[in-house]
Amino acid sequence: MSAKVWLVGAGPGDPELLTLKAVRALREAHVVLIDDLVNDAVLEHCPGARIIPVGKRGGCRSTPQAFIHRLMLRYARQGKCVVRLKGGDPCIFGRGGEEAQWLRERGVEVELVNGITAGLAGATQCDIPLTLRGVARGVTLVTAHTQDDSSLNWQALAQGGTTLVIYMGVAKLSEIREQLLAGAMAADTPVAMIENASLPHQRECRSNLMAMEDDACAFELKSPAILVIGAVAACDEIKRSQPSAAPTRVRHLSL
Ligand code: SAH
Repeated sequence: MSAKVWLVGAGPGDPELLTLKAVRALREAHVVLIDDLVNDAVLEHCPGARIIPVGKRGGCRSTPQAFIHRLMLRYARQGKCVVRLKGGDPCIFGRGGEEAQWLRERGVEVELVNGITAGLAGATQCDIPLTLRGVARGVTLVTAHTQDDSSLNWQALAQGGTTLVIYMGVAKLSEIREQLLAGAMAADTPVAMIENASLPHQRECRSNLMAMEDDACAFELKSPAILVIGAVAACDEIKRSQPSAAPTRVRHLSL
């Protein structure tokens, strides 16, 4: 029997942001290994499948990665169609790359299916265009959390001129602020902090680089949240403050 594992992105939370391909994979699945940031509502697409939670939900310890690898391999070798369902996109801070490699090295066919990553979804939900002509000519996705405590090149990030989208940053706000200020990013650079992006309980906190730690504390910002740092994080305010701008358009913006 053919062994196949689908590594599927479930998007940021809103079940309508699932791709049609993800739905097809779920429909075919015999077994679904589901991560903690996936909205259970997407499981309506695989009513007959065996669902195995492999995240930290309910305050349990996270399932060891080696165990997840072995589970996928075991079911695939039984000829089962396995879906490994991850929050957002499987290859953006989602270990999709390493899981695909591990499985392929053992002869298992793997197919990766994109999901909408939380950083892109969160910004869009808050009307923040991550790139904007004349304002931001690029976007950089980074994680504030590393397993090996290696550090980012904060100076390059501070001076790169791209919008920064920071994942796993809630517990690292102080360090992010200090490092970007030390890298000569302007203290009044706009910041948006977006919690539970695309879900009904989404919350957003607008601030700036200097004030973001205090503001996040007053707001009681909690994980999961993404940070958007750069001029675009205030672009809807810019829009509102332009008296001559037609109500509908960002393209009237010039900074
Ligand atoms: N693969 C995922 C990211 C996993 S890392 C993706 O592509 O989105 C986990 C981090 O993602 C969280 O700490 C948080 O920073 C971010 N995240 C995931 N879901 C989120 C959501 N609904 N709202 C805000 N941030 C989210």
